[in-house]
Amino acid sequence: MTAETAEMSAAARALGGHRVLDPPGVLPQAARRLDATPAIGPDEVRLSVQRLNLDAASFRQLSESCGGDGDAVRAAVLGIVAERGKMQNPVTGSGGMLIGVVDAVGPRSPLGLAVGQRVATLVSLTLTPLAITDGLARWEGRSEQVPAEGTAVLFARSIAAVLPDDLPDAVSLAVLDVCGAPAATARVVRRAAAHSVVVLGAAGKSGCLSLAAARAAGATELTGLVRDRREAAALSAAGLADRVVAADATDPLAVAAAVGTPAEVTVVCVDAPGAEHGAVLATADGGTVVFFSMATSFAQAALGAEGMAADVTMLIGNGYTPGHAALALDLYRSIPGVRSLIDPRVHA
Ligand code: NAP
Repeated sequence: MTAETAEMSAAARALGGHRVLDPPGVLPQAARRLDATPAIGPDEVRLSVQRLNLDAASFRQLSESCGGDGDAVRAAVLGIVAERGKMQNPVTGSGGMLIGVVDAVGPRSPLGLAVGQRVATLVSLTLTPLAITDGLARWEGRSEQVPAEGTAVLFARSIAAVLPDDLPDAVSLAVLDVCGAPAATARVVRRAAAHSVVVLGAAGKSGCLSLAAARAAGATELTGLVRDRREAAALSAAGLADRVVAADATDPLAVAAAVGTPAEVTVVCVDAPGAEHGAVLATADGGTVVFFSMATSFAQAALGAEGMAADVTMLIGNGYTPGHAALALDLYRSIPGVRSLIDPRVHA
């Protein structure tokens, strides 16, 4: 083996390439199947899983396709994990994340984790080797949060956060799952020195955190678009937006009418497909749309914007931005309006 090949394989290993079973040559996120064997290599970490957080778009799709039958949703999740060695919804392509206890650390792991620490993975379930051993017996299949037993594996280039002591696990899990959204929003608002921001799906978890992050980053005209009057009342009471409007985010003309003057930045935080065109119409020429939703279609966004001759920059909401976990947890801790919207979803 040449030095160059050895270096390449070490880099691929750090990204989990050695765990890919099918198809060969791709990284774990793009794999159909991973090797979820609990025995770890020298640079890996094994977690004893306690709870999964299915991402909202995936859970909605599974729930709708099973007609709301919890047993069928549980069977579907078990089937996916058994078949794929990871929790990646084949329809939405999305996953979520998990919390667990570190139960083995390879001698060459660079993650700095110690056996016994309780952590949340900050990498997606779509690339995390996962084996479930309890049949998800404690989960009724009716919520995004899934009590679970089993094992998960972190690679050398994975990231994980030690769980904070001052928050319930379920809250940390929910906030950390969407922590990329407020970080991306803050970055875009700051870079553009933007004043006006519209958030679609503003009363949801990532939506309310994005509003709070936009405010903290200097935005002064915040519009929250929500689905209906009930959510409008909750968002108004939370005090996170200057203006609350209600419309179906999947109806582009209704979104445009509700938003009125387009904003410099639009953040898409709905968990349903079909929000691309409304988001483009809600955004001023020269502005930016951040598509955080996993239900976003690249083709609908790109071709829709072209068809509307809309000069907008469109960003894929990368789940990772440096400092994202601390920022989201701090927004949750310090802003009562954020807590008032997230808590009922977590305890529901
Ligand atoms: P959430 O808490 O369920 O919030 C979604 C919000 O959108 C809810 O308030 C929901 O209303 C609203 N909504 C759904 N359909 C709507 C419609 N047609 N019109 C108006 N509002 C609508 O979800 P979340 O956890 O914040 O996640 C939001 C999205 O981010 C999901 O697609 C999720 O998969 C994605 N995500 C992305 C990343 C990333 O790295 N980019 C990471 C994690 C999650 P109801 O509650 O009334 O349905």
